[in-house]
Amino acid sequence: MTTKSNLHTHSLYCDGRNTIDEMIQAAIRAGFESLGFSGHCHTGFSFDDCQITDIDGYFNELDAEKRKYAGVITIFKGLELESRVEGLGRPVIDGRCDYTIGSDHLFWTKEGPYSVDYTPEEWNNGLKATGSIEKLLECYYEELCSFAEEVPFDIIGHVDLYTKFNEGGKLFDESLPKYKDLALHYIDRLARTGKIFEINTGAIGKGYRDTPYPSPFILRRLLELNAPIILSSDSHSTSTINCYFDQAEQMLKEIGFTEQMRLTENGFVSVPL
Ligand SMILES: [Zn+2]
Ligand SMILES: [Zn+2]
Repeated sequence: MTTKSNLHTHSLYCDGRNTIDEMIQAAIRAGFESLGFSGHCHTGFSFDDCQITDIDGYFNELDAEKRKYAGVITIFKGLELESRVEGLGRPVIDGRCDYTIGSDHLFWTKEGPYSVDYTPEEWNNGLKATGSIEKLLECYYEELCSFAEEVPFDIIGHVDLYTKFNEGGKLFDESLPKYKDLALHYIDRLARTGKIFEINTGAIGKGYRDTPYPSPFILRRLLELNAPIILSSDSHSTSTINCYFDQAEQMLKEIGFTEQMRLTENGFVSVPL
């Protein structure tokens, strides 16, 4: 078995429940070779209660922790970027980052944004605003694709986050060809950016899903496309730092994946699963 790494980690600087140091200690206990922090970037939106407000404190603490744990575990500095930032449009990547994740937690309509991962009620409000599941998916994916095409982030976060509350098909039947084909059309477009797709176990840790994002039919397409992947836990607390990692690795191998990407001091490299 390969040693573990996780690049999707939150802390008290955004909406996580533990300090950076507590998360690092948990990763050491779990036998990780590296840990990357991906606090939610500052968006400036008044409705965004997850964003980092003390960005200098965040990077300074990560620098200090990197030095403190040198030789024990490698610490990487990152951010989870949103597709839009108040007053700026697209986010600008902070030069202090070793890597960045680009995630769409929202989709935008003329009336404004709707969240796909806040509550099922909010999801349904978005459905009413867009008019149909197809339109909701189109809005979500158009936003994510243009974001991925315009901003040079490294990893596409939880690509089908809109399924968070859909365990057992509660909101819509994902397997219907009209929804599947639509999703795969956009997966193909995203794959052309060359970015790494995240296999994210975060919703399992929170009790919303039994399997990681994205859904198996998307994973199979990613394999066909030979798209690079990376496993992460999107952890918001010490108890979920390696949530479902072993099972997810096994699942990926059964689908046919043989490698994933790993961040090193010299950038991303491919390692065996
Ligand atoms: Zn996220
Ligand atoms: Zn996250």
